[in-house]
Amino acid sequence: MKILCIGRNYAEHIAELNNERPSEPVIFLKPDTAILRDNEPFYYPEFSSDIHHEVEIVLKINRIGKNIETKFAHKYYDEIGIGIDFTARDLQAKLKEKGLPWEKAKAFNGSAPISGFVPKTQFEDLKNLNFHLDVKGEVRQKGNTSMMLWNFDEIIAEVSRYFTLKTGDLIFTGTPAGVGGVEIGDKLTAFIEGNEMLSFEIK
Ligand code: MG
Repeated sequence: MKILCIGRNYAEHIAELNNERPSEPVIFLKPDTAILRDNEPFYYPEFSSDIHHEVEIVLKINRIGKNIETKFAHKYYDEIGIGIDFTARDLQAKLKEKGLPWEKAKAFNGSAPISGFVPKTQFEDLKNLNFHLDVKGEVRQKGNTSMMLWNFDEIIAEVSRYFTLKTGDLIFTGTPAGVGGVEIGDKLTAFIEGNEMLSFEIK
């Protein structure tokens, strides 16, 4: 399986990092070795001193497809979850400066903790979904999917132009404003519509 990630999908987050607003979605990948499941702890890597949390809604692909039209995209996922797109912001800044690929800063071991997945039918409106991240019990990031530049179906259509989607693939759909550093000892807890989905420690 593979993990596809969308960057710069929330206007306020683009502004906080002084990034350019993209004319098409920014896409990058993480390998399966990035995944942490079942609230496994995240071990702070030695190559960075500025690991940032980015809380994101995650789609789980349920069938194979490519060149999917937006109007049919909803058929390609039944379940959603929440995850953290951990980013070594210091490394990423260096790579960006040199115009190099982001993998070392984005796709390292444990950089994709994910929750369990729940049926999307459980939610009234996927285009108006609240989610948030607490660090040590305090709200750090708060988002609503209505603020996305590209919605779930548009993301699936776009990524499937380049990458064949397969059953079990995951799509991280971008982070809202409020990204920031984590420290050893922090506890991160992520919620969809107020329901706790994911909770783990930084070690
Ligand atoms: Mg992200």
